Amino acid sequence: MYKLVLGVVLTVTLACNVKKIAPTEEQLETTVPPAIIHGEHLGIAPTTPEETEYYLPKVPSVTVQNSIPSDAIILFNGKNFDHWVQTVDSTSVKWHLNNDGSMTVADKTGNIQTKQDFGDLQLHLEWRSPKEIRKKEQNRANSGVFINGLYEIQILNNHDNDTYVNGQVGAVYKQHIPLVNASAPVGSWNSYDIVYRAPIFNRKGEKITAGTITLLHNGVLVQDHVPLKGTTEYIGWPKNKAHGKGPILLQDHKDNSGVSFRNIWVRAL
Ligand code: MG
Repeated sequence: MYKLVLGVVLTVTLACNVKKIAPTEEQLETTVPPAIIHGEHLGIAPTTPEETEYYLPKVPSVTVQNSIPSDAIILFNGKNFDHWVQTVDSTSVKWHLNNDGSMTVADKTGNIQTKQDFGDLQLHLEWRSPKEIRKKEQNRANSGVFINGLYEIQILNNHDNDTYVNGQVGAVYKQHIPLVNASAPVGSWNSYDIVYRAPIFNRKGEKITAGTITLLHNGVLVQDHVPLKGTTEYIGWPKNKAHGKGPILLQDHKDNSGVSFRNIWVRAL
């Protein structure tokens, strides 16, 4: 009887084509975690300020020039594609190198990715949708940056262009809805600042700690240390096959996106 009722409900739901509402984190929480105890703070409390002041280890210094940290690897400065290859066959990049210090997706040439692999990282990149409006929903200036070659942070023109919210600009694709849409006006440059911590796998290849993503879009927090649930699949569940470091990948969505990029740098963490 229960199955029959469930079947009727599902059928009616599908027939009505109801748009889905994402579950909240509270709804997803199924266990009550234990309280956190900081062991170093147990025992008799210090009575002088010096007892809680440390001088080692020394903190390394980083200087900043033109907003780029001195320990960053500059992946794209507008002059060449030296750090990049086509994903499909590791050949030279076929995207357009513009004379204003940017690059633009060459439609249907495929994704590009860094030659170097990265694990935990801080990544800065800037992107821009073309000023003229092309298509709609997921086909309006769709690109994306894949961290570790596996986890897509969506790039999309969402001005007057609704789509599923877990696939809109600033989403961790089909996993985390952005907190806000912080897009710059169409045709203006946007910045993404990303902090990624890679997932940890045990010897059996099972994931024991989820990776995390933090994203600032134009300086605005849109992803707050969210846990990666696996790969960001278009169809199907996220996958959690064990992996090490991987490339940073930029997407050719193959629908004349016209998306441009500039000023890309990364710090390994
Ligand atoms: Mg995309």
